Amino acid sequence: MKSVRFKAGICLAVAVAILAVAAVYLLAAGRAGDDIHAAGARQLQIIALDLESVLERYETLPFTLGVHPDVVRVLLRPDENRTVQRLNQLFSQIQRHAKVSAIYLMDKEGNTLAASNWNEPLTFVGRNFAFRPYFREALAGKAGRFYGIGNATGEPGYFIAHPVYAEALHQPAEPIGVIAVKIGLAEFEQTWRSSEDPITLVDRNGVVFLSNRPEWRYHSMKPLDRQAQQRLADTLQYAARTIQPIALLPKKVQAGFGDHVAQPVSRLGWQLMLFPSQARINRSALLSAIAAALVLSVGAISAWAVHQRRRRLEERIESRKALQRAAEELDRKIVQRTQELLQANLDLASRYAKLQEAEHLLRSTQNELVQAGKLAMLGQMAAGVTHELNQPLAAIRAFADNAITFLARGQAAKAEENLGQISAASARMGAIIGQLKGFARKSHDAVATVDLARSVQASAMLLDSEFRRHGVRLDIEILHHAAVLGDAVRTEQVLINLLRNALDAVEQASERRVAVSIDCDGEEALVRIRDSGPGIPEDVVRHLFEPFFTTKPSGKGLGLGLAISSSIVQAMNGQLSARNLSEGGAEFTVRLPLAADIPNEIGGQVASA
Ligand code: ADP
Repeated sequence: MKSVRFKAGICLAVAVAILAVAAVYLLAAGRAGDDIHAAGARQLQIIALDLESVLERYETLPFTLGVHPDVVRVLLRPDENRTVQRLNQLFSQIQRHAKVSAIYLMDKEGNTLAASNWNEPLTFVGRNFAFRPYFREALAGKAGRFYGIGNATGEPGYFIAHPVYAEALHQPAEPIGVIAVKIGLAEFEQTWRSSEDPITLVDRNGVVFLSNRPEWRYHSMKPLDRQAQQRLADTLQYAARTIQPIALLPKKVQAGFGDHVAQPVSRLGWQLMLFPSQARINRSALLSAIAAALVLSVGAISAWAVHQRRRRLEERIESRKALQRAAEELDRKIVQRTQELLQANLDLASRYAKLQEAEHLLRSTQNELVQAGKLAMLGQMAAGVTHELNQPLAAIRAFADNAITFLARGQAAKAEENLGQISAASARMGAIIGQLKGFARKSHDAVATVDLARSVQASAMLLDSEFRRHGVRLDIEILHHAAVLGDAVRTEQVLINLLRNALDAVEQASERRVAVSIDCDGEEALVRIRDSGPGIPEDVVRHLFEPFFTTKPSGKGLGLGLAISSSIVQAMNGQLSARNLSEGGAEFTVRLPLAADIPNEIGGQVASA
């Protein structure tokens, strides 16, 4: 849009410039025309003055010669050869000095009696000029003036004639002859040659007789009427020529003819004419137009440069502004982003705090859960333990009764034996209770090296009565003495849980067998508990480690055992997995990272009693 407007503006400016140049051209042409006309008029004035002064200079020459005694004498005695000869001599002498074409004397009839060119082939002597107007006018007592082509010589000239009287001082008398001077004007033509403009001298009839354009000579400005033609023929002014108008000349020769300035000259009603050259006017106008175009071009270029400079300046200011805007926007965005980040940071911090809180809650809940699971297990074990304790208790009672009896009979040795039995039974009870005490105690996440074989044996011992009561064989195979880092109580909790489940699984089976093996696999210790039970049903596998999932009747199972066990093992960086054996039964595997310092023998470092 902007560019279209700009282009239209440029077109308009160019059109205005062209119009301005054209106007300057026209104005300059008019002005140049006027100037050249004025200059032409001044030039003509000078030429006219020059011409008139020349003509004037000779004006008195015939009169002065006319009073010479020899002139009168020759007219009165034309046969006096001596006088004629003297006069001829005088005339030719004066002619040379005065630089005129000819001086000659005619009698009343127009016959030439003496002439400056008396001794030349084309002499005037003997010729009659009565037909010439200047002769007639002089004879009439006036000064005769005429321009024409010489009858004898064929050369054009200006003729001045004067009457000659017998008595110079008695002029009112009749003239006895006429004396004439012919002046050549060709040299004027010479001086005009240098002028580019055509200059012409035109007679009363409008016939050009002198010109720097030779082709125009003896041609008329306008067609001549019959009367004028006749007059010219009668006076042989231009010899026998028929005068044609310049307009009839070939076009090329005519060039320059037309508009002109004129200046009247001499008493003969001549007109000096100058035809200002149109080419010169056009040239001058063209120069002015070129100057105007140049001025306009310089102006346009300057305006363009100023415009460009202003535009560049505007662009620079605009780009600076844009840069500033961008910088401000960036600053604003940075502030906004910083605030967002700060907010996000605060959010994260508060979320982290919440997470910590949740983790803390979880951990305490987990601990509670582990403890609850443990207590539940203790409850389950209570019957077995009670049985386990009842047996030695009943035995102690029987041994004590027997000891009393033996002591009463005086059989001290037998009584001592029974007391020994009592001691053994109570030691066994103490061991069971010690295990229970250790197991029931709340763990405090104590990390120590745990001997897996020892943990397995402690767990087996707690469940020993249960196994025996249900007639389940328990095989423990220690392939590798592995130690792990963790909590011994919790490790036992896991093992008791798995052994208990295995016991439950084989309860109904025909062959009741549970096998525990300790091994290692690379950097990991493996505890495998296999049973000869029915295996884990398909639909149970998916929920095996979910809390509160149980297939056991209420009162027997809580569904927490595997969930807790799994979380304990994971807390020790280990993994608890289960699978069904191809030969039947299930196998649970505890994988735990081996402790760096593996004790070489059982009984190294044990965390709990
Ligand atoms: P609970 O023993 O209280 O049911 P657990 O989480 O210890 O809870 O066990 C969940 C379930 O996994 C059991 O109810 C049982 O169905 C199944 N299960 C566990 N151990 C075995 C096993 N050795 N053989 C077959 N099924 C088992």
